[in-house]
Amino acid sequence: MRKPILAGNWKMYKTGAEAKEFAAELIGYLKERPLQDKVDILVCPPFTTLPAFAEATKGTAVLTGGQNLYPKKEGAFTGEVSPAMLKAEGAAYVIIGHSERRQIIGEQDQLLNEKIKAALEFGLKPILCVGETLEQRKKGETAKLCRSQLDADLAGFGPDICDTLVVAYEPIWAIGTGENAGADDAQETIGVIRQWLKTAYGDEAGEKVRIQYGGSVKPENVKSYLEMPDIDGALIGGASLSAPSFWQMLQAAAEISGV
Ligand code: PEP
Repeated sequence: MRKPILAGNWKMYKTGAEAKEFAAELIGYLKERPLQDKVDILVCPPFTTLPAFAEATKGTAVLTGGQNLYPKKEGAFTGEVSPAMLKAEGAAYVIIGHSERRQIIGEQDQLLNEKIKAALEFGLKPILCVGETLEQRKKGETAKLCRSQLDADLAGFGPDICDTLVVAYEPIWAIGTGENAGADDAQETIGVIRQWLKTAYGDEAGEKVRIQYGGSVKPENVKSYLEMPDIDGALIGGASLSAPSFWQMLQAAAEISGV
């Protein structure tokens, strides 16, 4: 049975002070209703905010993640942040290949493959994002596109990666738009991703990987996704910025968690 993981992607929102307020609120809820045995709780703040958030949640069940990394330990890479730095500040996870980085910053698969290697080398669990544009979806290329992203981004890894890897299926047209893939649609593509993992790494290893859905997930619809057999959590942007909203989604996840 896979434990669900709900991850808040704060994108370029919140200062350290705002993150501390959020952390205090979330920790307060968790004291009243500790649901961490049922669901993993992760927040990925911006780099500048991450140390404050990690410090404010230290010793609690709330995990911290980075939104990106540069695949070197240190060096002359102005404006970048290394996996070692994220780890030292308290991060346990890191998002790799978010569509905003693929599309706005122009990150390519080869670099993403290196980023995953670097994350693992420094003990960070990667959350690899894959997903199609609206144009690709209209052409019926969703499954093909997801498979080719997995082929390139996970090239060279063996079954051991399944112990730490999380994959997030995020149809690009559903991110931050209020549009979302229906739960059945999301399950269909996530089923394709699950099959890719099983073919690449074997059935047992592929079954271990947690696969999230992301794209306008909110308290009203989170349950419909988590009820699907291959969907093990959500990567949540806008609706993770408010502690009460994030808490509502965590409670929904805990209620239908199989662990
Ligand atoms: C995201 O940031 O990965 C995301 C899915 O955003 P939103 O929930 O706002 O669509």
